[in-house]
Amino acid sequence: MTGVLLDSVSKIYPGGHLAIRGLRLQIHDGEFFVLLGPSGCGKSTVLRMIAGLEEITSGDLWLGDQLANNLTPRERNVAMVFQNSALYPHFSVRDNLAFPLERAHDDRAEIRGKVVEMARALGIDPTLDRRPATLSGGQKQRVAIGRAIIREPALFLMDEPLSNLDATLRTELRLEIGSLARSIGATTVYVTHDQVEALTLADRIAILRDGVLEDVGTPAQVYGDPATAFTASFLGTPQINLLGATARAIPGQGVLLDCGAQSLLVPWTDPRVHALAGHHGSPVIVGIRSDAVTPADTPTTAPILSGRVRALEFHGHEWLAQVETGMTVLESDRIGRRVPVPVKARTRPLDALRRTVRHRPEPDEPAADGHVGSHRRSDVLIRLGSSRGWKVGDTVRLAVDLPQVLFFDHTGRRVDPVHR
Ligand code: ADP
Repeated sequence: MTGVLLDSVSKIYPGGHLAIRGLRLQIHDGEFFVLLGPSGCGKSTVLRMIAGLEEITSGDLWLGDQLANNLTPRERNVAMVFQNSALYPHFSVRDNLAFPLERAHDDRAEIRGKVVEMARALGIDPTLDRRPATLSGGQKQRVAIGRAIIREPALFLMDEPLSNLDATLRTELRLEIGSLARSIGATTVYVTHDQVEALTLADRIAILRDGVLEDVGTPAQVYGDPATAFTASFLGTPQINLLGATARAIPGQGVLLDCGAQSLLVPWTDPRVHALAGHHGSPVIVGIRSDAVTPADTPTTAPILSGRVRALEFHGHEWLAQVETGMTVLESDRIGRRVPVPVKARTRPLDALRRTVRHRPEPDEPAADGHVGSHRRSDVLIRLGSSRGWKVGDTVRLAVDLPQVLFFDHTGRRVDPVHR
């Protein structure tokens, strides 16, 4: 088993696309580590660089205590599973599973035992004598996982291994992958764009955006204590409400977050108030998850927002309300977005890197309130639980659970310290 260290790793593809910028990441020995982010953010590029399938443009990759930049894939002792891993079509499941061990010249009796044991762990023992063409998608993917893991590689890499399966199978196999990887103690790097997979499987998660590391931490840390507004919006359903506000320190009271039509007062007793006061007169972003707001049906000392119910959605186990509050709701995709300066095709890669590492902000004009980014909707999403309670058109009062509210500066970075 082995840990992985990416030390200021960048990747520029031929043609000049800067896919990964100065990535620093330490993956511990035996850890189940998830790379999470939207399509195109560079997750597979990182995985392929670790596997040795993609050259590293600059920076160092360490596997254990070995500098691995120039090792061949074979020398790295990694196993990889893809979305559509190909099996040997003319081999039975048994022979597919045995193949990596036979190549390593293991003892035949031992191989037979290991194959059966792996097939049992993955629930495919009844299929051992069948050919891949006769298997379901889920069974094929189980064989691919078994074949990768059976020779106990130093490192187990998985690139969206569940994304071609239906929802029920995905859940089932997700649980199996988690327990299998943990039972053999393999260091696993798992790529996905699915936040549920990341939150349920990972020991730690790295969130990537446009080739840049946004945040890294345990699932509880990146969900509850996210470093950026992008991380906060990528994790959690429904998506967090991000409100554009201006901070105003008021002596004797606290910091008033003026959200246009309404405001929230963060009292001087709140541990984050001094960090917020440092943004006096500046735009800040207020992040309120839908479960940090409840209908204020009874008297409360919590801060209150009010609005009109625009729509109610039934989600089976709960109702969600869209409440028009008149406040500025920001689109998370555009907060703090940086785009690379285009690189000329003939520029040498390292020169290109030097030039593009200093990216410039998207050329959006800041709105009058200092916030860049269009307002996708002006509704705030509220979780109502299993009873609908409200009707469309009702004027409602919302109690805000202030300790759960997150505060970011206008670039999307948390204003108060993040704990890791
Ligand atoms: P993800 O896995 O997060 O979807 P990728 O790592 O596949 O993202 O791709 C990151 C970026 O690099 C994307 O913009 C993609 O178009 C680009 N890219 C990936 N592979 C190549 C390649 N071989 N040549 C040029 N650009 C590439």
